[in-house]
Amino acid sequence: MRPRVPLPSPRSSIRVFGAAAIVAALATAAAAQTPFIPYYGKNNPHYDTFNWQIYTTDHFEIYFYPEVQPHLERIASYAESAYQQISADLKHDLSFKVQLIIFKTHSEFEQENVDPGAGVEGVGAFAEPFRQRIVAPIDDPPDRLYGLIVHELTHQFQFDIIPQTLIRRSVPLWVNEGGADYERGQWEPLDLMVVRDAAIADVVPKMSQLEGYGTAGPSRLIYNLGHAVFEFIEAKYGKEGIRQFMFALRKSVIGGGEDAYEEALKLKKEEFDEAFERYLKERFKPFRDKERPADYGRDLSPNQEKTHFAQALSITPSPSGDLLAVVTANRKDQELDIILVSSKDGSIVRNLTPGEPVDGLVAQGRSARLLRAHEQRADARRAERAHAQDRAANPDEVGG
Ligand SMILES: [Zn+2]
Repeated sequence: MRPRVPLPSPRSSIRVFGAAAIVAALATAAAAQTPFIPYYGKNNPHYDTFNWQIYTTDHFEIYFYPEVQPHLERIASYAESAYQQISADLKHDLSFKVQLIIFKTHSEFEQENVDPGAGVEGVGAFAEPFRQRIVAPIDDPPDRLYGLIVHELTHQFQFDIIPQTLIRRSVPLWVNEGGADYERGQWEPLDLMVVRDAAIADVVPKMSQLEGYGTAGPSRLIYNLGHAVFEFIEAKYGKEGIRQFMFALRKSVIGGGEDAYEEALKLKKEEFDEAFERYLKERFKPFRDKERPADYGRDLSPNQEKTHFAQALSITPSPSGDLLAVVTANRKDQELDIILVSSKDGSIVRNLTPGEPVDGLVAQGRSARLLRAHEQRADARRAERAHAQDRAANPDEVGG
């Protein structure tokens, strides 16, 4: 199977997941003609005939057709800028010109036959590991298009530093994709949120153990954590640290040499994993500190120590907002009950279902009805009292 590296399109999460599906399908069904088993893409429809021409720059051969020509200079300048950026970061030059094959729109890109079946709906662009080609549509907004080119070109640098034909151990997925996203230098809000949530929820995996181009687990999270790892390395060792790490990885992957973490970062694998986790926790500390229930409200559920009610399984507020009907566990009677609670201080006003077990499934609907009935009775009592007060104050009017 020819590994290829689809870039999840930044345009929408649906396409992002499409790309994840493609990675998974490629790995599990190498013989399949198409990532969308069993039907889509068996034939790759070509609606247009492209009149290909070549435009050569310092580091690229750009393949274009006349409809793309108005954009050619812009694309060429993006590509050369991207090259300068990555080359400076990694202090590395490619010994070949990258073939950049551009399509005016994504739907035209889907007709590509550089690698039939690769340019499908869920893939933003792709870089070929063996033939130094990048195939990309150019209909993204400028900043995203530049980012797309940087991402794919980073793969070409990665493939050049660690030649895919020589590897004895595979490069971890997070290195390739995380490194490309790091060079791209843009965080999709959703991607950053995923990393933040992993840090806050204490579910950051040990990155050094995520070897190979494996597809286990949520691969988008792996991309994003990889992106964060490169930012971590930069924060701790500067851009030079990233270069050292890539070249140490080259040694260890090709020659089975020393551990890249030890050689480049002077950390044992476990120390690296710990340091990365610490970095993430520190980075998202404001969120960790902020996200406490007390910042948003008060706990009005029954006090387990002072009452025999435990937990608020569901609540319904009264129309006035003064009261809450709460489905709760009655530890004394070993049953679910619906109780009325003051929304001011959580004090228990009354048990609406004393001695009467409540089925959890119907409790929520009942709590609203009971609350309504309770308020109606309270209204009636208030009216009664007011009436009685009236009568006491104006005895002459009685019967009037
Ligand atoms: Zn990629």
